[in-house]
Order: sequence, then C-alpha cells, then structure tokens
Amino acid sequence: MKAARFHGRGDIRIEDVPEPAVRPGTVKVEVEWCGICGTDLHEYLEGPIFAPPADAPHPLTGETVPITLGHEFAGVVAELGEGVTDLRVGDRVVVEPYIICGRCDACTNGRYNVCQSLGFVGLSGMGGGFSQYVVAERRWIHPLGELGTDVGALVEPLAVAYHAVRLAGTRPDHTAVVYGAGPIGLVTTAALRAVGVEDVIVVEPAAVRKEKAAVAGAAHVLDPTSTDVVAEVMELTKGRGADVTFECAGVDVVLKTAIQSTRAGGTCVNVAIWGHEASVAMNDLVFREVNVLGSLAYADDHRPTIDLIARGKVDPHQFITGRIGLDDLVVGGFEELIRNKEENVKILVRPS
Ligand SMILES: [Zn+2]
Ligand SMILES: [Zn+2]
Repeated sequence: MKAARFHGRGDIRIEDVPEPAVRPGTVKVEVEWCGICGTDLHEYLEGPIFAPPADAPHPLTGETVPITLGHEFAGVVAELGEGVTDLRVGDRVVVEPYIICGRCDACTNGRYNVCQSLGFVGLSGMGGGFSQYVVAERRWIHPLGELGTDVGALVEPLAVAYHAVRLAGTRPDHTAVVYGAGPIGLVTTAALRAVGVEDVIVVEPAAVRKEKAAVAGAAHVLDPTSTDVVAEVMELTKGRGADVTFECAGVDVVLKTAIQSTRAGGTCVNVAIWGHEASVAMNDLVFREVNVLGSLAYADDHRPTIDLIARGKVDPHQFITGRIGLDDLVVGGFEELIRNKEENVKILVRPS
C-alpha cells in the first residue's frame, strides 16, 4: 500500500510499504480521511521532534525514521482480529492514536495521555493515517455511528479541545477567553460552545481568523494590536476577569495577558506546545491565586466528543478547508498550509 513517510526535515516521500496484518485483539481500519496537524508541519519544518531519529528508537515501538505520518484519521473497519466481537466490518470508526506502556504511574492513574513512554500512531511508529490501512488495539477504536468519516477525522483535534475545557473545570455559566484563533484556538472555541458556554471571547489579530472565530461561536473577538485586551476582558466581565482562559499560541506576551485576564481563583490552561522556555511573572499568579495548568492531547475524551458532534452541539464541517489525495500531500497539503496559514484550518487527505 502507499504511505506518506517522514524521512527527515523537509523530506516526506510517498512510498510503497507492506500492509499491516491484523492480530488478536486488534482492528484493521481502512483510512478514508486523515487531517494534517500543526504537529505534522513542525515535524516537516523543524523535525525530527516526535519522530524517533535513527539513533534513538521509540521505547515502545522500537521504530525510527522513516515513519508514516498522520494521526487525525477515521475510516471503516476492514477486518477484525480474533476476539473482537463488538464491531462489524464496514463500521465507521475513529482511531485514538496512542502508543502507551500501560504500566507507569500516569497510565495506572488514568492519565495515559502523559505516559512516560508516550507515543502516537503517525509520529512514533505503528503506521499512520496517511496510508490505506492502520491496525490498532480494540480499546483505541471508537465507533462513529451515523457520522461520516470526514467529520470523524476532526474528532481528534476536537478531543484535544474538549480535554482542555474539561481539565479547566469549565461550566456553562463561565466566561472564557481563548487566545489565538489558529486550528487549536478555533476547536477550543467550538468545544466551549458545545458544552454550553455562551460567553466566549477570542483574542486574535489576523482578519481571516477573526471571522472564523465568530463562525466557531465567539461572542466577542478582540484584536490585541488595537485593544488593551486585559482592560477589555475586565470591562466585559464587570471587573472580575474570565473564569477560564486558554493559551493556544505559545507566546510569552500572550501567556502574560492570559494570566492577567483570568479571574482571582480562576484557571488559565496552556494548550500550546512551546518552542522555548516561557517567562512568567509569578506574582501575577500569587496575588490573585490564578491556577495555571498544562493540557496535553486527550484521555477518555473521544467518546464524549463524538457524542457532542452527533447531538449537533458542534459542526466540524466549518474546519475543513481543503480535501486532497495522498499524492498531493506535500504540495497541496503541507506547502499549502505553510503558505496560506491563515486561510486554512484543516486539509483532509484521502489515502486511497
Ligand atoms: Zn494533531
Ligand atoms: Zn505509561
């Protein structure tokens, strides 16, 4: 089968690889749609970051580059491994793309998303969604029911957002501020609306993204280049500040603003992955007892995310800005996302 494999920085090749074989307890999924993630772009531009380099195999998969990419995918069940009896061939499913040890402190405490040996299908080995077939253990397969597999490919990024919203202890009567309206900021905005938060403020300078934030459900969109964001958030919240804030940019000044716009005793969640060490004025936290937490990926968030989509609480179609074939992955996918960063949210790839 054809697969898009990451060989090293700037080097992704469409190659022929052997089809994975189903094993007892696993499910073989024929991928229909796989989204390109910011993580994939980082790998392509600056990697290897997550992908294990030649001299450091992933501790669980033992694999190194070349690695098949793609971790935001959905498809149909092609074959069931021995012992899997609760699914049928042809069922539409999304794969939660984890590789975990199952034994470490995090794994045994339900925080398998921060496993000591954490890996992702599509970044650390075990194939990836930019190929025709993926085989995964039954526990990682989530049925989509009536939902289409294009929508299914958006479950993974929405689960990232849902996890952050859940970790923050967000309630429907809360006021939330989302910093950044790139793909993660947009799905976070949509996830907040999906769980019933009406008062969502988005902070974003780029015009195209501001419009997308409004479509995703922002009640207010603030431009940090022309507005004093902290003063404006205070104004909008009767001087209290926001109950929950989400840093989706990974920029020092944004983190500072996020913390300062959080209510006393409120929570600022960091969703961004940082390329450098942040500087934080600790007294901004201490004097107002603001909680700052990190949120990584998802754990037990796929099911509730699929339910929110099925109940019409969030429409993932708004995030699909392109559809391409596997052969066009580098030019029509990666290069397009790098060139037209603001116009695009998710480009979906059809591997076969
Ligand atoms: Zn992703
Ligand atoms: Zn573990």
